Amino acid sequence: MKPLLGPTQTQLDACVTCGLCLPHCPTFRLTGDETASPRGRLTAMGAVADGVVEPDGTYAAMLSYCLQCRACEAACPSLVPFGQMMEGARAHLATVRPTTTGRIRRLLVGRLLNMKWLLALVTSFVGLIQKLGVMRLLPRRMRLARGLRRQRVFPHSAVGVHDLTPAVPAGSVALLAGCVMDQWFPAVHDATRGVLQMAGYEVDSPENQQCCGALAAHEGAEIDAARMAVRNTGAFAGYDFIVSDAAGCSAHLKDYGHWADGGNSVAERTRDVTEFVAELIASGQLPASKANRGQVAIHDPCHLRHAQGIIDAPRAIVRAAGYVPVEIDPDGLCCGAAGLYLVYEPDTAEWLGDRKAEQIRQAGPRTVVSANPGCEIQLRAHLGGSYRVIHPIELYWESLNR
Ligand code: SF4
Ligand code: SF4
Repeated sequence: MKPLLGPTQTQLDACVTCGLCLPHCPTFRLTGDETASPRGRLTAMGAVADGVVEPDGTYAAMLSYCLQCRACEAACPSLVPFGQMMEGARAHLATVRPTTTGRIRRLLVGRLLNMKWLLALVTSFVGLIQKLGVMRLLPRRMRLARGLRRQRVFPHSAVGVHDLTPAVPAGSVALLAGCVMDQWFPAVHDATRGVLQMAGYEVDSPENQQCCGALAAHEGAEIDAARMAVRNTGAFAGYDFIVSDAAGCSAHLKDYGHWADGGNSVAERTRDVTEFVAELIASGQLPASKANRGQVAIHDPCHLRHAQGIIDAPRAIVRAAGYVPVEIDPDGLCCGAAGLYLVYEPDTAEWLGDRKAEQIRQAGPRTVVSANPGCEIQLRAHLGGSYRVIHPIELYWESLNR
């Protein structure tokens, strides 16, 4: 495993403290506090690395308050790799200042999330409390569950996928199953498979793959994150492309060079489904509808927009599905979902979720597309049942099935 504990001196030296990232940082915008800014966090990481300050509770709180949305990274003229540095700083902190809460968080994302039976149990429990209408009795930190819906899988039959699949396949695709996508978002996987098969790709979901490890990396569970990256690097060997329909996962797969030997090969072959399908539409390998079906609001997940720089693709897919994309947030500020953030920073997560929901209400459309499961759950929780929140690939697949 590559050493990941703490940011490197080269990474720390890259920051010239210009402050251009500050207006893009949600926690700085909310507080106006330098210690809640990217520059403040980087300065603290440097001070800890130099031994000037101890990695104490104040330092832990500074790191924990960061959403890891990487808006600062996208805005930085010095190309400071903030995401990797924060992951390294959290891994270092977990080693030198372990806490019970931190251990539980790392156990959850590093081990338990990979247990399909446990996730199935939790999903059934959430379904039961939703049915009984007692969601409000849950502690506030657990109410993200109100944004969870069991998905109905859209039937393939109308399109006649098999008639459209060329005799010579366009290539092979390994679809990342992900930790929660199979259980909570099966319709997204179904749409992804359907659309890629329609374009002539052989789509497989290798049995021996695991969760991509993004949440483990974000929580500083570096050994588990590296173990998952090594396992998946083997599982995805031999495929032309690796496609993920969760933006947080595709962003992390593109970072595998940092986590596993041979990970660069995974990174080079990884595509978020939105960029992959938008290219197929642009090249005419997939159809674009000329219908006018109304407007759809666009929500940009941070790990699509900031971490991968993918902005046009979801809009192109929405247009190809026959809808007019409507912008809601030119700044692309985080919606507050951010992995487990809602659980340990509920006030800020709520503020950001309410802000995003209000922007959507002001924009008008009752359908919102978002290419990341955590954002979908957060938006549903804040918008309520009269809004439809779906992945752009579902919208496109639905239009093809009309
Ligand atoms: S992270 Fe980048 S944008 Fe922010 S202060 Fe440092 S050099 Fe400037
Ligand atoms: S990752 Fe997001 S919350 Fe964290 S410092 Fe950067 S912009 Fe701020």
